[in-house]
Amino acid sequence: MDMKNTQEMEQLLEQARQAAQQSYSPYSGFRVGAALRLTNGEVVTGTNVENVSYGLTICAERSALVRAVSRFGPTIRIEAVAIANLNDSASPPCGACRQVLAEFILPDAPILFPAANGVRTMAFSDLLPLAFDMKLK
Ligand code: ZN
Repeated sequence: MDMKNTQEMEQLLEQARQAAQQSYSPYSGFRVGAALRLTNGEVVTGTNVENVSYGLTICAERSALVRAVSRFGPTIRIEAVAIANLNDSASPPCGACRQVLAEFILPDAPILFPAANGVRTMAFSDLLPLAFDMKLK
Protein backbone atom coordinates (compact mmCIF):
# COMPACT_ATOMS: atom_id res chain seq x y z
CA MET A 1 0.00 0.00 0.00
CA ASP A 2 1.10 3.49 -0.83
CA MET A 3 1.42 5.40 2.43
CA LYS A 4 0.78 8.59 0.49
CA ASN A 5 -2.73 7.45 -0.24
CA THR A 6 -4.14 9.36 2.68
CA GLN A 7 -7.72 8.96 1.55
CA GLU A 8 -7.45 5.17 1.76
CA MET A 9 -5.78 5.40 5.15
CA GLU A 10 -8.43 7.80 6.42
CA GLN A 11 -11.06 5.30 5.27
CA LEU A 12 -9.26 2.51 7.15
CA LEU A 13 -9.16 4.69 10.25
CA GLU A 14 -12.90 5.28 9.95
CA GLN A 15 -13.46 1.51 9.77
CA ALA A 16 -11.40 1.16 12.96
CA ARG A 17 -13.57 3.80 14.63
CA GLN A 18 -16.69 1.93 13.56
CA ALA A 19 -15.30 -1.31 14.98
CA ALA A 20 -14.59 0.41 18.30
CA GLN A 21 -18.31 1.04 18.65
CA GLN A 22 -18.72 -2.71 19.25
CA SER A 23 -16.16 -2.80 22.06
CA TYR A 24 -16.90 -4.98 25.06
CA SER A 25 -15.02 -3.05 27.72
CA PRO A 26 -17.10 -2.86 30.90
CA TYR A 27 -14.00 -2.92 33.14
CA SER A 28 -11.74 -0.31 31.59
CA GLY A 29 -14.16 1.62 29.44
CA PHE A 30 -11.30 1.70 26.90
CA ARG A 31 -13.05 1.28 23.53
CA VAL A 32 -10.65 0.27 20.78
CA GLY A 33 -11.08 -0.79 17.17
CA ALA A 34 -8.61 -2.08 14.61
CA ALA A 35 -8.88 -2.37 10.85
CA LEU A 36 -6.49 -4.53 8.85
CA ARG A 37 -6.12 -4.07 5.12
CA LEU A 38 -5.03 -7.33 3.52
CA THR A 39 -3.06 -7.75 0.32
CA ASN A 40 -6.13 -9.45 -1.19
CA GLY A 41 -7.90 -6.09 -0.98
CA GLU A 42 -10.16 -7.03 1.91
CA VAL A 43 -10.48 -5.08 5.15
CA VAL A 44 -11.12 -6.96 8.38
CA THR A 45 -11.96 -5.19 11.62
CA GLY A 46 -11.94 -6.17 15.27
CA THR A 47 -12.58 -4.71 18.66
CA ASN A 48 -11.35 -5.35 22.18
CA VAL A 49 -13.20 -7.94 24.23
CA GLU A 50 -12.54 -7.75 27.94
CA ASN A 51 -13.05 -10.43 30.54
CA VAL A 52 -13.72 -10.32 34.27
CA SER A 53 -10.47 -12.28 34.55
CA TYR A 54 -8.53 -9.31 33.16
CA GLY A 55 -5.64 -11.28 31.69
CA LEU A 56 -7.99 -13.05 29.30
CA THR A 57 -8.87 -9.79 27.56
CA ILE A 58 -8.16 -9.72 23.84
CA CYS A 59 -7.13 -6.49 22.15
CA ALA A 60 -8.76 -5.10 19.03
CA GLU A 61 -5.68 -5.84 16.89
CA ARG A 62 -5.56 -9.54 17.77
CA SER A 63 -9.32 -9.77 17.55
CA ALA A 64 -9.16 -8.47 13.97
CA LEU A 65 -6.24 -10.73 13.08
CA VAL A 66 -7.96 -13.88 14.30
CA ARG A 67 -11.03 -12.91 12.34
CA ALA A 68 -8.95 -12.28 9.19
CA VAL A 69 -7.33 -15.72 9.35
CA SER A 70 -10.69 -17.33 10.08
CA ARG A 71 -12.25 -15.68 7.03
CA PHE A 72 -9.42 -15.82 4.49
CA GLY A 73 -7.09 -18.54 5.69
CA PRO A 74 -3.49 -18.92 6.78
CA THR A 75 -1.87 -17.24 3.78
CA ILE A 76 -3.19 -13.73 4.48
CA ARG A 77 -0.78 -10.83 4.49
CA ILE A 78 -1.53 -7.52 6.16
CA GLU A 79 -0.48 -4.41 4.25
CA ALA A 80 -1.85 -1.68 6.54
CA VAL A 81 -3.35 -1.33 10.02
CA ALA A 82 -5.42 1.44 11.56
CA ILE A 83 -6.22 1.62 15.25
CA ALA A 84 -8.76 3.92 16.84
CA ASN A 85 -10.05 4.43 20.33
CA LEU A 86 -13.08 6.34 21.39
CA ASN A 87 -11.45 7.60 24.58
CA ASP A 88 -9.30 10.27 23.01
CA SER A 89 -6.27 8.54 24.46
CA ALA A 90 -2.95 7.44 22.99
CA SER A 91 -3.29 3.84 21.85
CA PRO A 92 -0.31 2.28 20.09
CA PRO A 93 -0.54 -1.50 19.71
CA CYS A 94 0.66 -3.35 22.83
CA GLY A 95 3.68 -5.63 22.76
CA ALA A 96 1.62 -8.80 22.51
CA CYS A 97 -0.27 -7.49 19.49
CA ARG A 98 2.93 -6.39 17.78
CA GLN A 99 4.35 -9.91 18.08
CA VAL A 100 1.13 -11.51 16.84
CA LEU A 101 0.88 -9.07 13.92
CA ALA A 102 4.51 -9.87 13.00
CA GLU A 103 3.39 -13.34 11.94
CA PHE A 104 1.26 -11.99 9.07
CA ILE A 105 2.30 -8.43 8.31
CA LEU A 106 4.51 -6.90 5.64
CA PRO A 107 7.50 -5.22 7.32
CA ASP A 108 6.83 -1.86 5.68
CA ALA A 109 3.09 -1.88 6.42
CA PRO A 110 1.98 1.48 7.79
CA ILE A 111 0.42 1.38 11.27
CA LEU A 112 -1.85 4.30 12.14
CA PHE A 113 -2.61 4.78 15.82
CA PRO A 114 -3.75 7.51 18.16
CA ALA A 115 -0.70 9.16 19.73
CA ALA A 116 -0.41 11.92 22.33
CA ASN A 117 -0.83 14.62 19.71
CA GLY A 118 -2.97 13.13 16.98
CA VAL A 119 -2.79 10.13 14.70
CA ARG A 120 0.71 8.81 14.15
CA THR A 121 1.90 6.58 11.31
CA MET A 122 4.86 4.23 11.64
CA ALA A 123 6.14 1.35 9.54
CA PHE A 124 5.59 -1.95 11.32
CA SER A 125 9.30 -2.77 11.33
CA ASP A 126 9.91 0.44 13.31
CA LEU A 127 7.28 -0.55 15.88
CA LEU A 128 8.78 -4.01 16.38
CA PRO A 129 12.29 -4.13 14.96
CA LEU A 130 13.30 -7.47 16.45
CA ALA A 131 10.22 -9.67 16.50
CA PHE A 132 10.74 -13.14 17.88
CA ASP A 133 11.26 -15.47 14.92
CA MET A 134 12.17 -19.14 14.81
CA LYS A 135 13.26 -19.21 11.18
CA LEU A 136 16.66 -20.80 10.94
CA LYS A 137 19.29 -18.64 9.31
ZN1 ZN B 1 -2.75 -5.53 22.25
